[in-house]
Amino acid sequence: MVILNRPLAASLGLNPASLDDPASFAGNALPPGAQPLAQAYAGHQFGNFTMLGDGRAILLGEQLTPSGGRFDIQLKGSGQTPFSRRGDGRATLGPMLREYLISEAMEALSIPTTRSLAVVTTGEVVYRTAPLPGAVLTRVAASHIRVGTFEYASALDEKPNLQALADYTIQRHFPDATTAAQPYAAFLDAVIERQAALIARWQLVGFIHGVMNTDNMALSGETIDFGPCAFMDVYDPSAVFSSIDHGGRYAYGRQPLIAQWNLARLAETLLPLLHEDAQQGLDIANESIGRFGERFQHHWLEGMRAKLGLSTEESDDPKLIDSLLEWMQRSQADFTNTFRALSSASSATYSPDPAYREWHQRWRNRLTRQTPSESEVMESMQRHNPAVIPRNHKVEEALTAAVETGDLSVLERLLAILAKPYDHAQAHPEDYTLPSGSGSYQ
Ligand code: AMP
Ligand code: MG
Ligand code: MG
Repeated sequence: MVILNRPLAASLGLNPASLDDPASFAGNALPPGAQPLAQAYAGHQFGNFTMLGDGRAILLGEQLTPSGGRFDIQLKGSGQTPFSRRGDGRATLGPMLREYLISEAMEALSIPTTRSLAVVTTGEVVYRTAPLPGAVLTRVAASHIRVGTFEYASALDEKPNLQALADYTIQRHFPDATTAAQPYAAFLDAVIERQAALIARWQLVGFIHGVMNTDNMALSGETIDFGPCAFMDVYDPSAVFSSIDHGGRYAYGRQPLIAQWNLARLAETLLPLLHEDAQQGLDIANESIGRFGERFQHHWLEGMRAKLGLSTEESDDPKLIDSLLEWMQRSQADFTNTFRALSSASSATYSPDPAYREWHQRWRNRLTRQTPSESEVMESMQRHNPAVIPRNHKVEEALTAAVETGDLSVLERLLAILAKPYDHAQAHPEDYTLPSGSGSYQ
């Protein structure tokens, strides 16, 4: 056992005695009644369609929680499955701890996400570019139904199966759609709405998923599959962290567009269900997909207003926001720390740049045209702007200590700090809040 999430286990209603045996988290001992399975799916990876599936994951089953929730419990890195192709089905300790850390940080930021219950080592050596310790992550998800799951059903070209999958997904995640005049159109709209809200939340904290393939997009609206993801330091729409994303397809500023592209792939799979008449089905799908931009913009603007303490709506707000972002980009300002500084009493002196001073004055003037007091504005801003995010150098430091020396204390300290990202009163050690490269405005 490397790490175990006891609070999550308790909220799931898992038997505490069952948590003590690491074998159950490695897949060596199955919970009574479990019928493990690997799920088939397809997906567009970097734009190319491929048949896929759980190549290194096993779904143990579903857990019904004391509060009436239903969650998938899945082991990731547990060995080969019929979908492994040439892969070994294994995972290594560093990336599994990374998923644990980032997913729990996302949860603490109140962003919909799959959770991490445990990481265990397997005692086996896994060969990548070097021999590495094998590990298994226990992932908890509202479900593992992906855009790629629908692409798989669609590729098989069996309408009853596609319909069964859609009906199941509606039942599990969008029960309101069943009573709509056009349930499948309502379902598509609801998926789009959840994704628009999710991607807006990512943008508002500078989260870059890194591999937004359609197989890595969950219909539940949870963030899923944390690979080479990262939080942006300096504000830069072209920021990319994944070393395999050469063309910048999944850059920070492109995430909304890619989400819409992925949702269009989902809509295509639903065409046979949307209308008996092909043209009318296409019209419904196009209209639905066309609304993504507006829905994203709505959530993003609402979130940006909250980040800037704007409790009313003025038509010039988007301009005010854009000017700040432009300044941040030009000045290579840190995204998180700029908003953090604006949420503090000393925001006027954050930067000596006259352009910043001018923007700051505009913003102060804007705040005078609404009722909340200065302290109320600041208090609200602190609830919407994290003081700490998982800085890349801190994540790497924690993983290196865990993997190379078996020292988990660095990871545990980082997890504890990231558990309260909106706690501005806490005096965080400087290196938790600074980006690794020392830019001029941190
Ligand atoms: P990912 O990039 O993690 O989203 O994975 C893409 C696909 O590759 C999924 O279908 C995985 O199941 C599969 N995959 C990734 N790593 C392995 C592995 N070590 N062995 C077998 N399949 C894998
Ligand atoms: Mg994946
Ligand atoms: Mg992955």
